[in-house]
Amino acid sequence: KALLYNMTPEQQVYADKWNKDHPEDDLVSTEDKLDAKTVEMAQGYDVVSVLQVFDIDEEEVYRKLSSYGIKQIALRSVGYNIVNFDFVHKYHMIVTNTPAYSPRAVAENTLTSAMYLLRKWGPILDNEREHLNFVRSEDLMSDEIYNQTVGIIGVGRIGSCVAEMFHALGAKVLGYDLVENPANEAFLEYTDFDTVVKNADILTLHTPLEPSMENMISAKQFKEMKNTAYLINAARGPLVNTQDLIDALKNKEIAGASLDVMTGEEAIVMKKFKDISELPVEYQELAKMPNVIFTPHSAYYTKTSVKNMIEHSMTDVKRVLNGQKPVYLVEE
Ligand code: NAD
Repeated sequence: KALLYNMTPEQQVYADKWNKDHPEDDLVSTEDKLDAKTVEMAQGYDVVSVLQVFDIDEEEVYRKLSSYGIKQIALRSVGYNIVNFDFVHKYHMIVTNTPAYSPRAVAENTLTSAMYLLRKWGPILDNEREHLNFVRSEDLMSDEIYNQTVGIIGVGRIGSCVAEMFHALGAKVLGYDLVENPANEAFLEYTDFDTVVKNADILTLHTPLEPSMENMISAKQFKEMKNTAYLINAARGPLVNTQDLIDALKNKEIAGASLDVMTGEEAIVMKKFKDISELPVEYQELAKMPNVIFTPHSAYYTKTSVKNMIEHSMTDVKRVLNGQKPVYLVEE
């Protein structure tokens, strides 16, 4: 019997399917987030599952979950930085996540972003929609992907899919990772961080976020990048220094950017605004630039991903309840 916090209508479809396919299980949903105010709802359940951006940092949450006999927090996400592992250990709990729900979803979104930027669809669509201007002016002339160099920082599950896709299109692919996987050498050439940054026509980030990696791409890197290069960040916002990015775009140190994530994204994601002046200041500046694309942390957002978030997390819940080792144990 599992309580699934942060339920959304699209995930509910797959939770209902799970209940139908597994009559021995009972997945119960709530739209609430898990915190000290809502933790008591978990009384009587074997396990809780969450998918939230808000930190679960109140000790009371872990203490109460443990007192209800709950031993596992099943995250329906890749990221686990919302969890306080000191409290997880103190109350002898475990955390599982869903790191492989669909690397291709983010990789395909990265490919889409790259092609959109490269083929200048930002200014082309602005001209058409806002100014009814259909003139094929010289500034709209673009490049072809097959003779571009794509630089990938972090060649893990997602980064290796990205490499495979761009390689298939004929691009040269450079990759940097702390750990080099020989299987990826069919699609890319591993090199050092600075070489990737300097040589990329499209620089795309696919690392996790650790405190030491904040501002991995800042003023120094923007100065080293080609003036014609595009930056894509669908990993984690703080990897990029937002103010340095704004300055680099204004100074034409790079040609454009696609941001699925950004520091402070909680202020805009899943919200609607009436006027640009309501956006946080950095977003206002970037939103005015036709060579910048925002997506609302939606790179992962495909039917396959949503289905797998439920299926992978609940499969691990069953493993744990049956006394087996979970496949996606988060070890911190
Ligand atoms: P992964 O763990 O499979 O791969 C990450 C890779 O980064 C690993 O190969 C690791 O060795 C490497 N790495 C770690 N630190 C590094 C460093 N300092 N320098 C270079 N490489 C380093 O993770 P993944 O599933 O491929 O996810 C990658 C990123 O994508 C994560 O930040 C994740 O949060 C993000 N993500 C975003 C979305 C979205 O919708 N935008 C969805 C899923 C995942």
